[in-house]
Amino acid sequence: MRHANPARGNTRKPFGFKRNRLPDPAEYYHQQGLKLTGGGEWKSAVCPFHDDTKPSLRGRLDTGGFRCMVCGTYGGDVLAFHMKRYGLRFIEAAKALGAWEGGR
Ligand SMILES: [Zn+2]
Repeated sequence: MRHANPARGNTRKPFGFKRNRLPDPAEYYHQQGLKLTGGGEWKSAVCPFHDDTKPSLRGRLDTGGFRCMVCGTYGGDVLAFHMKRYGLRFIEAAKALGAWEGGR
Protein backbone atom coordinates (compact mmCIF):
# COMPACT_ATOMS: atom_id res chain seq x y z
CA MET A 1 0.00 0.00 0.00
CA ARG A 2 1.17 3.41 -0.91
CA HIS A 3 0.39 6.50 1.11
CA ALA A 4 -0.71 9.42 -0.98
CA ASN A 5 0.14 11.90 1.73
CA PRO A 6 2.77 14.46 0.99
CA ALA A 7 5.88 14.25 3.12
CA ARG A 8 4.45 15.40 6.38
CA GLY A 9 7.44 14.27 8.33
CA ASN A 10 9.54 16.93 6.73
CA THR A 11 9.65 19.69 9.33
CA ARG A 12 12.51 21.65 7.81
CA LYS A 13 11.57 25.28 7.53
CA PRO A 14 13.23 27.98 5.48
CA PHE A 15 13.19 30.33 8.45
CA GLY A 16 13.71 30.27 12.14
CA PHE A 17 15.84 31.15 15.10
CA LYS A 18 19.59 31.14 14.53
CA ARG A 19 21.27 31.02 17.90
CA ASN A 20 24.71 31.43 16.38
CA ARG A 21 23.66 34.85 15.07
CA LEU A 22 22.96 36.27 18.50
CA PRO A 23 25.31 39.12 19.31
CA ASP A 24 28.33 38.49 21.49
CA PRO A 25 27.18 38.91 25.11
CA ALA A 26 30.05 41.25 26.02
CA GLU A 27 29.28 43.49 23.05
CA TYR A 28 25.55 43.33 23.54
CA TYR A 29 25.58 44.23 27.22
CA HIS A 30 27.98 47.05 26.51
CA GLN A 31 25.55 48.42 23.92
CA GLN A 32 22.76 48.10 26.46
CA GLY A 33 24.71 50.32 28.80
CA LEU A 34 25.51 47.62 31.31
CA LYS A 35 28.87 47.84 32.95
CA LEU A 36 29.74 44.30 33.88
CA THR A 37 32.63 44.34 36.28
CA GLY A 38 34.46 41.95 38.50
CA GLY A 39 36.45 38.78 38.12
CA GLY A 40 35.24 35.26 37.65
CA GLU A 41 32.53 33.93 35.38
CA TRP A 42 29.75 36.03 36.87
CA LYS A 43 30.19 39.78 36.48
CA SER A 44 28.19 42.41 38.32
CA ALA A 45 26.19 45.31 36.93
CA VAL A 46 23.50 47.75 38.03
CA CYS A 47 20.20 46.00 37.32
CA PRO A 48 18.06 47.60 34.58
CA PHE A 49 14.96 45.71 35.74
CA HIS A 50 14.42 47.48 39.02
CA ASP A 51 15.44 50.75 40.62
CA ASP A 52 18.90 49.58 41.46
CA THR A 53 21.54 51.66 43.22
CA LYS A 54 24.35 49.15 43.43
CA PRO A 55 25.34 46.31 41.12
CA SER A 56 22.78 43.63 41.95
CA LEU A 57 22.68 41.94 38.59
CA ARG A 58 25.03 39.08 37.84
CA GLY A 59 25.79 38.36 34.23
CA ARG A 60 28.02 36.07 32.22
CA LEU A 61 29.96 37.21 29.18
CA ASP A 62 30.29 33.73 27.72
CA THR A 63 26.67 32.54 27.71
CA GLY A 64 24.93 35.86 28.26
CA GLY A 65 23.08 34.39 31.23
CA PHE A 66 21.97 36.83 33.91
CA ARG A 67 20.26 36.93 37.28
CA CYS A 68 19.37 39.77 39.60
CA MET A 69 19.97 39.10 43.28
CA VAL A 70 17.33 41.66 44.29
CA CYS A 71 14.37 41.55 41.89
CA GLY A 72 14.97 37.98 40.76
CA THR A 73 14.89 38.68 37.02
CA TYR A 74 16.86 36.02 35.23
CA GLY A 75 17.47 34.44 31.85
CA GLY A 76 19.90 32.25 30.03
CA ASP A 77 21.11 34.45 27.19
CA VAL A 78 21.01 37.86 25.53
CA LEU A 79 17.77 36.92 23.79
CA ALA A 80 16.05 36.44 27.15
CA PHE A 81 17.50 39.74 28.30
CA HIS A 82 16.20 41.54 25.22
CA MET A 83 12.73 40.02 25.62
CA LYS A 84 12.48 41.06 29.24
CA ARG A 85 13.93 44.51 28.83
CA TYR A 86 11.76 45.50 25.88
CA GLY A 87 8.71 43.32 26.53
CA LEU A 88 9.15 41.41 23.28
CA ARG A 89 8.04 37.97 22.30
CA PHE A 90 10.66 35.38 21.36
CA ILE A 91 10.43 35.91 17.62
CA GLU A 92 10.34 39.70 17.92
CA ALA A 93 13.44 39.69 20.08
CA ALA A 94 15.22 37.25 17.78
CA LYS A 95 14.47 39.51 14.81
CA ALA A 96 15.56 42.61 16.70
CA LEU A 97 18.89 40.94 17.43
CA GLY A 98 19.36 39.74 13.86
CA ALA A 99 19.03 36.10 14.88
CA TRP A 100 15.91 35.28 12.86
CA GLU A 101 16.15 34.08 9.31
CA GLY A 102 13.44 34.59 6.73
CA GLY A 103 9.69 34.45 7.29
CA ARG A 104 7.72 37.20 8.91
ZN1 LIG B 1 16.89 43.66 39.54
